[in-house]
This record gives sequence, structure tokens and C-alpha cells, in this order.
Amino acid sequence: MKEISPDQLYQLFNRSKRNTENVIKASPIGICITTPSGHFEMVNPAYCEFYGYRPDELLGQHFTMMVPEANRAILSALHDEFIQGNENHELRQEWDVINRNGELRTIIAEAARIEADDGELRKVTFIIDITQRKQLEERLKQANERLDHLAHHDELTELLNRRAGLQRLDEEIKRCKRYDTPFSIAMYDLDNFKAINDTYGHSVGDSVLQQITTLVSDVLRDTDLHIRLGGEEFLIIMPGVNAKEASLGMQRVRENVAQQTFTEHQLTVTLSSGIASYAEASGTRLLDRADKAMYQAKQTGRNRVVIASSPM
Ligand code: GH3
Ligand code: MG
Ligand code: MG
Repeated sequence: MKEISPDQLYQLFNRSKRNTENVIKASPIGICITTPSGHFEMVNPAYCEFYGYRPDELLGQHFTMMVPEANRAILSALHDEFIQGNENHELRQEWDVINRNGELRTIIAEAARIEADDGELRKVTFIIDITQRKQLEERLKQANERLDHLAHHDELTELLNRRAGLQRLDEEIKRCKRYDTPFSIAMYDLDNFKAINDTYGHSVGDSVLQQITTLVSDVLRDTDLHIRLGGEEFLIIMPGVNAKEASLGMQRVRENVAQQTFTEHQLTVTLSSGIASYAEASGTRLLDRADKAMYQAKQTGRNRVVIASSPM
């Protein structure tokens, strides 16, 4: 085999070094090398471009300059730990960072530990920008949450919708059966509401519905569930409350609504309500009794609360 002269060896070594440097320069992945104290020793073009700095603005600086203040201490400690530790490879992790314009970006970073010419250790960090992916994921999550909300809530009033409300009613019945606690429901329907739509238009009617339901929710206890059954008809589930207490609560609701005026037209609206207390297993039966009591409230002059007679 032909011997390699020291000169040729030097040339080979130099070429190999140049090639490595060129690969690092051309890499679409951001790469930086930090000293044991965490200061930049090398930054490649992709790294500079991602953060928006020139190389001379970064070299010699501590790497935490692009980390949000709250994470600086922990990242610095992790850097020290890695440099002093035995692992040659740091597992990929997701981090929030800040670019030159002060924009928050998300990266995935992965690192390796190498020995430099001076015999000291260095950390080589590879970063990939996943900001867009994160933003998409966040938007998708929000869209899913909105869909989930819409599936259970009424869009106009933001109350639980009929389907979700009747499901909660069944659950409440089961719970009360198991623990033998009282609970009541109140149905209420706005009086002569059609006249408001006929006189002022549907959108004013919508505003009245929004304002009244907000007011009613404010008057109710936090543990009560407020449901839009449909149109201008609503259901309130009152856990742990007997018929008498439910009636007092609904009287308070009725008075509050009757005393207020709604929309810029200063409209007054009243409601009629029927109350039934838990006595049987079926939610439908309970609703029927509350509905009949509410009908009675309408028949006997509206703007009143009627308790359903006890079931046979
Ligand atoms: P009563 O005292 O007997 O309940 O009389 P009422 O006029 O309230 O009863 P009726 O059932 O005749 O009319 C209910 C009205 O409620 C008719 C309908 O246009 C109106 N309504 C139902 N849902 C909505 C809604 O989402 N928005 C608006 N603006 N009106 C609604
Ligand atoms: Mg009505
Ligand atoms: Mg109605």
C-alpha cells in the first residue's frame, strides 16, 4: 500500500474539516455550540436566521438570552448538568423561545456532547422550529372545544341545551335516588312573548332572551343548572332543594325579572313557572308535572309560580 505523506494527511484532514463546516453551514436545522459556561461558540446560518441575529451578535453571549425570563434558571441548570454529566446525548424537548423581534416561538431541541480541540466539553444543540405546527394544534384544540361547547349549549343564551339538560336531569335523579336527597325542578316560560317579537322584531326578542337568562342565572344559586328547553321555555334543576325552597327561589327570580326593564326599549317581561320535586324515578314524569303546574300558572293569570301537587 502506498504511504501517505504528512502533507497529504494534512490536506485530507483539512478537506474533511472544511466539508464538516460546509455541512453545518448548509444545514436547514439550526445548530449552535456552547461552552461549558453556556456561551455561544458557534452558530450556523439557520440558527441565526431563526432567531433574527447576526453571528457576531450571538457569539460570546449566554444562550439564555433567547429564553423567556421565567425559564432561564432551569435551562441554565440543565445545560450545566448535561455538560458535567455522563450522557452524550440529550433527549429532544420542546421549548418556548423569543426571537429578536420579541416574538414567542416554539422549538424542538436536541443536543449532543462533544470534546473540543482544547480537550474541554461542548454542547451542540440542534433546533427545529415547530411554531406553526403548535399554532395549528392550538387552533384545532380551540375549534374542538368550541364544537364540544356548541354540542351541549344553546348558541343564543349560552345555557345548556335541551339534550344536555335532560341528560343532567337523569343524572341528578340517579344521584338523589342513591343518596336519598331532595331535589326540585322549575320550568318557566316568558309571558306574552310573541307580542314582543310582533311589536319590536325578532332581534329585539333575542336580546330580551339573552338579558333575561343572564339575570335569572345571576339570581340562581351556583349549584343550580339553567337549561334552555326551546323557544322561550326554560328548565332549572335545583339539587338538594325541596319544593318549598324551590318555590321561594323561583319567586325571587320572578320578582327580579318583573322589576327589570330590558333592551333600549325598556321592555318589561314577566314569567310563569311550575315547580315539581323529585318523587319518582323518571325525568319525563317530573317534567310533565312541572309543565302542568306551569300551565296552571298561565291559566291563573301569569307572572306567578305554582308548585305541582304531589303525585298519587
Ligand atoms: P304565553 O304567555 O302563553 O307563553 O304567551 P307567548 O306569546 O309567550 O307564547 P307563544 O307560545 O304563543 O309564543 C312564544 C313566542 O316565543 C313565539 C316565538 O316567536 C317566540 N320565540 C321562541 N323562540 C325564540 C327565539 O329564539 N327568539 C325570539 N326572538 N323569539 C322566540
Ligand atoms: Mg310564552
Ligand atoms: Mg313557550
